Amino acid sequence: MQVNWREITHARNSFAALYAACEGEGFRLRPVKAPESDVTCYSLNSLNAPHLRAEIASAPCTTIVGGPHATACPLETVAYADYVVVGEGEWTLPRLLHALEAGEAGEIPGVASRKEGLRPPDHTVYLPAYPPFTHFKGYLEISRGCPFGCAYCQTPRIFGHRMRHRPVDEIARAATAFRDARFVTPNALAYGSDGVHLRLDKVEKLFQALHKNRIYFGTFPSEVRPECISEEALDLITTYCANRRLHFGAQSGSDRVLKALRRGHTVEDVEQALDLCRDHDLLPVVDFIVGLPCDEDEDEVATLSLIREVARNGKPHVHRFIPLPGTPMARTEPRPLLLETQQALGQLALAGRITGSWDDPERRFFRNHSDVLS
Ligand code: SF4
Repeated sequence: MQVNWREITHARNSFAALYAACEGEGFRLRPVKAPESDVTCYSLNSLNAPHLRAEIASAPCTTIVGGPHATACPLETVAYADYVVVGEGEWTLPRLLHALEAGEAGEIPGVASRKEGLRPPDHTVYLPAYPPFTHFKGYLEISRGCPFGCAYCQTPRIFGHRMRHRPVDEIARAATAFRDARFVTPNALAYGSDGVHLRLDKVEKLFQALHKNRIYFGTFPSEVRPECISEEALDLITTYCANRRLHFGAQSGSDRVLKALRRGHTVEDVEQALDLCRDHDLLPVVDFIVGLPCDEDEDEVATLSLIREVARNGKPHVHRFIPLPGTPMARTEPRPLLLETQQALGQLALAGRITGSWDDPERRFFRNHSDVLS
């Protein structure tokens, strides 16, 4: 049975991980630019899903769809796909492929189909059992799951609230494929911990094991949380790592909004993190979300003020709120920005002081339409 993988921008890391998992079960996923026989797999997020829906519906082959959008909306997705893999795919996708090959894809945990409906997953993936990649390289995924429950975020809804970590020696083995080591994790400084009580001793062991690599830690795609930024953490980063930037999320300049979002930190935590970055000569790159439905005028003004403060010595990264399916904010609407905010963000952007897209959410991910599908 030939199994294909539809090449999709922003799903390359999923492809690398699932290629490795399926290869171990005797299936080599072949990258394709259009669906082909016998089976074609897709990974959809909420921005590319509308662009690929018609292609999947008319595909001349069996289609399997996973990813954050399919996980959040399995029954909507299975209306146009043959099978939906819900949640993590390393175990479920090969199990489904074996069943299809045997002609008996009946009720499989973690799979939705039009005939069988949705069977909930029966496991979480044990990370040490799967390499992060084999033939097709991806980032080094060091941790999964997040104990926080930010109301706009899909991560804990897909991977659960309990952090799981890949062992140091396996990360070091995978890192031999690169000179630069870059990581995937919901919070890099939480490596080895439960996500709340940090284990910086384990972070240091990871750094020591990667002594042959140039380490980029706490930069895209492995940001950190602001309250995790401490003297000790930054001493470790500046001692062992090559990055001179640190990327973390502030999201709002209003404590009322941070509480409503269930962020689990305060504006003061963000300000302390900014001071610590300055003391350690690290450029702070700080995420903000504007247009939040829970913003009142004064919250938006407070966020703009914090954006200006960050812009003095760092880089604010500003994005418009997107109501993602599967999250508590899925059915909310972005709030229109105050004229004053639009003008101020525009001026900061023209001066090269901020990046991001606070106008059109799709621009956050795609340079142009063809990027969605390439
Ligand atoms: S935004 Fe970050 S900290 Fe919050 S739930 Fe998502 S991954 Fe966790």
